[in-house]
Amino acid sequence: MAFYVTTPIYYVNAAPHLGHAYTTIGADILARHHRQRGEEVFFLTGTDEHGEPVAKVAEAEGVSPKELADRNAQRFLDLLPRINVSNDFFIRTSDPRHKQRVQEVMQRVHDNGHTYKGIYEGWYCPKCADFKTEGEIAEGNTCPIHRIPLDREHEENWFFRLSTFEQPLKELYAQRPDFVAPKTRYNEALAFINGGLQDVSLSRAKITWGVEVPWDPAHVFYVWFDALLNYYTALSFARDGEDLTDTFWPASYHILGKDILKFHAVFWPAMLLAAGIPLPERELIHGYLLMRDASGEETKMSKSLGNVLDPFEVMDTFGTDALRYYCFREVSFGNDGGVSTTTFGERYEFELANEYGNLASRTLAMIGRYRGGTVPDVDVDAALRPDFERLADEVAELLDHAEITQALDRIWQRVRRLNRYVEERAPWQLAKDDGKADELDVTLRSLAEGIRTVTVLLHPYVPETAAKLLAALGQEDLALETAAFGARPGGGAVTQVPPLFPKPQ
Ligand SMILES: [Zn+2]
Repeated sequence: MAFYVTTPIYYVNAAPHLGHAYTTIGADILARHHRQRGEEVFFLTGTDEHGEPVAKVAEAEGVSPKELADRNAQRFLDLLPRINVSNDFFIRTSDPRHKQRVQEVMQRVHDNGHTYKGIYEGWYCPKCADFKTEGEIAEGNTCPIHRIPLDREHEENWFFRLSTFEQPLKELYAQRPDFVAPKTRYNEALAFINGGLQDVSLSRAKITWGVEVPWDPAHVFYVWFDALLNYYTALSFARDGEDLTDTFWPASYHILGKDILKFHAVFWPAMLLAAGIPLPERELIHGYLLMRDASGEETKMSKSLGNVLDPFEVMDTFGTDALRYYCFREVSFGNDGGVSTTTFGERYEFELANEYGNLASRTLAMIGRYRGGTVPDVDVDAALRPDFERLADEVAELLDHAEITQALDRIWQRVRRLNRYVEERAPWQLAKDDGKADELDVTLRSLAEGIRTVTVLLHPYVPETAAKLLAALGQEDLALETAAFGARPGGGAVTQVPPLFPKPQ
């Protein structure tokens, strides 16, 4: 089994923010989970470096576009260890190996008769690097996203015959209702296709910072075509001396934000069809994390006063796992939802520190105090078994559909079950009565097993914490099959852990 997951490549001029971290962590959760299943996994992220915006900023700063791209790509490279993601490769589209592969694929599109030369005239947003259709132009010929005046562009371009693919795309959407998830985004993409597809400009003649069109080197490819192809080209050179394309293509999952839906759900499959390359299996479109400002109004990533969650501050103060957990717990992946320092603080204290961290450190402390640090070698409590039966399967089934938040919720229900179990059994009371030693044994063994089981399943979400806790429980193996309640024999030694989610200093 092979599993291939991608993030969008991030535009190199942007500064990394919570949105980038969110998408990348989402992909990381899936990658880590599939590794736990023993599958061969490839996880790709990277930077999109061509196009007019990079060339313009470089010119203003008096450096070459490549120098600017090198400097800015580093900021995204630096983000990866901070959010603790396990990507297998980082692609940069200025890489000559990517460019060569783009040229090969696009030459096939050309040879297959899906391009022609024409005159393009239209309204163009240099920041979007996109020509706007009638419906996408705001008042006074401005960009509705950037609120800047659009340029009237008139130039000779190569065109891609997108219109040819209207029918094949309709068939794709009819045959594969899970090609795009969630359903609202599937419907949105399909509506765009049903609205009629126009041919699109494939090249630019005025720009030199890009991938040269091999059959007409006075042109470079329009940045979107070059960027989308990263998902395919990376496999051919990510591992030295090896071509991974046959192993990992088609991709299992492209993960992306809704602002780039049209490119991924319409242009991208059409390009692949034109080149005769198999289509990715699924695309998962996530929503935005909306910041609640002091008045409670939700705004997209704005720096309003008060309640704004700064991901870097959160990671510095509370650790990377806390951010990873919160983003996927608070907002259902796929939907928009509000995030704030208030709800972060609540979830950190009630859920991570109390329900999970305290449960674990109390259990380890009681095994230390009452049983000399050895998990009693007795059967687990039959009363808890039904609560844990099929848990790992449930989580795997949900993650097969990228239901990252729902899977986390299932795990957390068991964390809460274990908390109730501690209250029901009151091991500190059992410890006072020698006649209840057997009961105490069963209770401690069951708690150790319950915590171990949920922790194996929580590894994709909170990898640092899971590693610490599993080490304290004497387990190194992360395999999903070990997440079975009672699977690890009793009699093993445990060690103590410092508070897993301490109060910040
Ligand atoms: Zn724009």
